[in-house]
Amino acid sequence: MTDSIRISSQQQSRLEIVFDHLEASEDARRRLAQPKQTITVNIPVRMDDGSLKVVQGWRVQYDDTRGPSKGGIRFHEDVTAKEVTALSFWMTIKCAVVDLPFGGAKGGVCVDPKTLSRLELEQLSRGYMRAVYDVVGPDRDIPAPDVNTNATVMGWMADEFTQIERRQVPAVITGKPLGLGGSQGREAATGQGALQVLNIWAQRAGKSPEDLTVAVQGFGNAGYHFARLAHEAGYKVVAVSDSKGAIYSNDGLDPEPIWRHKHKTRELKGMVYCDTSVCEEADFDQLTNDELLELDVDVLVLAALENAITQENAEGVRSALILEIANGPISPEADSILSDCNIEILPDVLVNSGGVIVSYLEWVQNRSGDYWAEEAVEHRLAERLDREAKSCFQLADDEGVSMRIAAYMQGIGRIAQAMDHRGSQD
Ligand code: GLU
Repeated sequence: MTDSIRISSQQQSRLEIVFDHLEASEDARRRLAQPKQTITVNIPVRMDDGSLKVVQGWRVQYDDTRGPSKGGIRFHEDVTAKEVTALSFWMTIKCAVVDLPFGGAKGGVCVDPKTLSRLELEQLSRGYMRAVYDVVGPDRDIPAPDVNTNATVMGWMADEFTQIERRQVPAVITGKPLGLGGSQGREAATGQGALQVLNIWAQRAGKSPEDLTVAVQGFGNAGYHFARLAHEAGYKVVAVSDSKGAIYSNDGLDPEPIWRHKHKTRELKGMVYCDTSVCEEADFDQLTNDELLELDVDVLVLAALENAITQENAEGVRSALILEIANGPISPEADSILSDCNIEILPDVLVNSGGVIVSYLEWVQNRSGDYWAEEAVEHRLAERLDREAKSCFQLADDEGVSMRIAAYMQGIGRIAQAMDHRGSQD
């Protein structure tokens, strides 16, 4: 165990703004200022060459007032306790914004998974689960995938938990492979939810998808599924980027063959393209990542990592709307620069909540033993998001605040109320 690391002073001041709009008790304000519990783990991994590597990781359980804490685990070489704390805070807000019976948590492991063999990655995943075993469980804290982790990693972790317990406990983790109790629709859920929020915005603004050009920064699981579904819905996706570079086409791109190609070559940079396969004639312009952020498009989608837009580059943004699929892609300083330029932002805690909503549906299915078809999962996702997103838009209108503040008000209002109901001894 370590001393709790607190959220940043900017997050703290955002919280203050929200509390000033709410009639919440002082107790809730104090309790939400730091995480409930932070676990630091050092995980020994036997490498293929026989040497031993010790990898540091964390699980931060920010709050569990409304239910067991919930949130993904990321594997990334730059992960820090401070970052995991910020991410666990956002998970807490997010689960409450869409009214899930969960609190918030996040896990992080400081490693570049691309440097590990498959066996080493499995050892690390199992080691992480052994290290946090005492604090997770279907009624305590339920991990899930995040940056650089996926269904395979969740499957190993679920299996490790099952082996320690000597009984099946699928609800301990979500985002599992289908054969181990995963849910239909989980993989595309984040992108699907993000598209739904964009559709609601477009409808309110009286615009149809065909009128809107879209650039997507980040072509991982969430960014890809969003781009694919947006293209299918008629939006004109003109650019996509990964960590190494971006491709652009004025006529619009079809994300599906691009995704298949990226999986063969591992990067978008230098990609050439024709209808269904890769050909010699280049149809794309190559852009740098910075250039993609400055494209004159209607919608800029941020689906990579935190702080893609800071005070350094905020003034270069030319889109009318930003859709935050990543967690925390706009720094608080950049947030005010963008709003001074009248750039509307649809915030992460609402836009990317499709992932955790379907995680919740997976947890429900695991606990009841009743598994649903993809359409049933999609229907439940759509129904919840429609209700919760529309009420955020309404709150923003009623209170005359940004969508971010409205979403925080919706989420924190529910958490603060639950804290008050729990009484003073908790
Ligand atoms: N990692 C995802 C997020 O940031 C999903 C979390 C979950 O399903 O618990 O929302």
